[in-house]
Amino acid sequence: MPEGPEIRRAADKIAKAVAHKPLSSVFFAFEHLKAYESLFQEQQIIAIEPYGKALLTQFDGGLSVYSHNQLYGVWMVRKAFNYPETRRQLRMAFHTEKKSALLYSASEIEVLAPEEVAAHPFLSKLGPDVVNPNTTEAEVLDQVCSDRFRRRRFAGLLLDQHFLCGLGNYLRSEIAFVARIYPNKRPMDCSDEQLEALGKAAIAISRQSCETAGITNDPALAAELKERGWRRRDYRHWVFSRAGQSCHVCGTEIKKVTLAGRRAYFCPCCQPE
Ligand SMILES: [Zn+2]
Repeated sequence: MPEGPEIRRAADKIAKAVAHKPLSSVFFAFEHLKAYESLFQEQQIIAIEPYGKALLTQFDGGLSVYSHNQLYGVWMVRKAFNYPETRRQLRMAFHTEKKSALLYSASEIEVLAPEEVAAHPFLSKLGPDVVNPNTTEAEVLDQVCSDRFRRRRFAGLLLDQHFLCGLGNYLRSEIAFVARIYPNKRPMDCSDEQLEALGKAAIAISRQSCETAGITNDPALAAELKERGWRRRDYRHWVFSRAGQSCHVCGTEIKKVTLAGRRAYFCPCCQPE
């Protein structure tokens, strides 16, 4: 499953292909959206913003298209009208003179007015988006310290899109490690310094992953390990998927546990239970 940084990169790729350009054609598979095809063809896309695993495609006329990929939806950017060979069903397409952005298999597509975006049942419940450049460490810290979340374990919180949006399983382990917090602790068990470190790490690690296509380890260290012949899966992260290998910071063996139903990794020395 893609996490926030991967979805942000996908959104940026789609925007680069079809935003701020005249649209030569717009296609919707669903009958109730057909009426919007000719309307959007006259407009331009001004932004494509990820919200958790959903994307909001904003048009200059004020309307937005909400699409949620669920498990099977996939976006493809191709040369204009160059459809891939696939058994998937095309659900939505934006074409410009040079490029096509094609959405296959997604089942949830809606056209929303601005007030409907604000009241949307999925969008309105999401926590601050860690890969959105407008989200601040203070907003993250407010969530961490709120009555709603401070009694819950980070293991569950860091996967909950209502807490922070854009996180997922590898980021959960990596953020907890960088903040030096054992992932099964609760905010109420932590010092102010640890909570501040978590707020910083949630934003910094997610954005770094976005910029580096998935490197959450220290970039200089990752480059050095790569130079020394390490495999990507071994130099990419601090702890995630590194059970049995030694911690990049202290040399202790990284442990794997199951928390909130998913695999998690931690250093017993840097993140004491
Ligand atoms: Zn360690």
